Amino acid sequence: MNALLLTEYMKLEMVEMPEPEFGVDDVLVRVRACGICGSDVHGFDGSSGRRNPPLVMGHEAAGEVAAFGANVGDLKPGDRVTFDSTVYCGQCFFCARGEANLCENRQVIGVAPKEYRRHGAFAEFVTVPRRIVYKLPESFPFEQAALIEAVSIGVHAVSISPIKLGDTAVVVGAGMIGTVTLQAARAAGCTRVIALDIDDVKLEQAKRMGATDVLNPHKVDAPAEVLKMTEGRGAGVGFECVGYTESVATAVNCVRKGGSVTLVGNLSQKIDLPLQYVVTRQIRLQGSCASNGEYPQCIDLMARGVIKVAPLISAYAPLAEGPSWFNRLYHHEPNLMKVVLRP
Ligand SMILES: [Zn+2]
Ligand SMILES: [Zn+2]
Repeated sequence: MNALLLTEYMKLEMVEMPEPEFGVDDVLVRVRACGICGSDVHGFDGSSGRRNPPLVMGHEAAGEVAAFGANVGDLKPGDRVTFDSTVYCGQCFFCARGEANLCENRQVIGVAPKEYRRHGAFAEFVTVPRRIVYKLPESFPFEQAALIEAVSIGVHAVSISPIKLGDTAVVVGAGMIGTVTLQAARAAGCTRVIALDIDDVKLEQAKRMGATDVLNPHKVDAPAEVLKMTEGRGAGVGFECVGYTESVATAVNCVRKGGSVTLVGNLSQKIDLPLQYVVTRQIRLQGSCASNGEYPQCIDLMARGVIKVAPLISAYAPLAEGPSWFNRLYHHEPNLMKVVLRP
């Protein structure tokens, strides 16, 4: 099969590889679309340390069932499917608690840290366990299905946040994750969703995608504006989708006493936190990791148009063009959001 292989850092090559083998509980998927994730770009340059070459990256994918192992009885060839990026063991303490995203033996598709190597979906075929495969509705486009993984991050963040009908939410960062998070927050009952970003183009898009208000913290005092909109109290819930000291402080300063901030972005390993402000205002900080089996909800929300992703897809290109798209993403070409490759 053809595959886009990371042969060394900063070097992606189209190569001929054997089709992946599959075990009795596995599904062989013929990949029709695979999104380039920000984490793949950090894998490409070696900065994350989690994608040691040689590796086929790619974990945001959809396609058709090509074959399956003997224990798989409920799929047929040609079924349209997507799959979770996380392979969980189903047996550890956290899996038993229903927290598969925190699995002790968690592996990620298309990732190769020191402990394991799991080839991903920038290839004609990929093998995944049946328990992470989800069927897609007949009319669901593959290139949109490749964004379910990103949607699931926002849906999970919202689902673990204390939201009440009629709440105001602040979403800091209007990139891919921020934009799906704001849509999920609206769907969960936030009637006012204020998106913050330092890029006005992203704010315009956030507005088209359902933000009721947008603020650029480089141009206005965003927390002061949020207080004005909320009778001087602040928003009930904040979502931080960036991960820098300044952006986390902005999120914290935008929520009311007793409010919560869900931390999704983690661009920095460490930040300075306004600790006394958080403690004395009893603000709850909640980390959110990946997603925990929210795929069926995501598929439904997208199929019904409650969460829209089509405007976030910048390009849908052949796999062979992968190296040049990685380069463009690596160099932060403006207005480039999600690039989906088609094997
Ligand atoms: Zn990803
Ligand atoms: Zn587990």
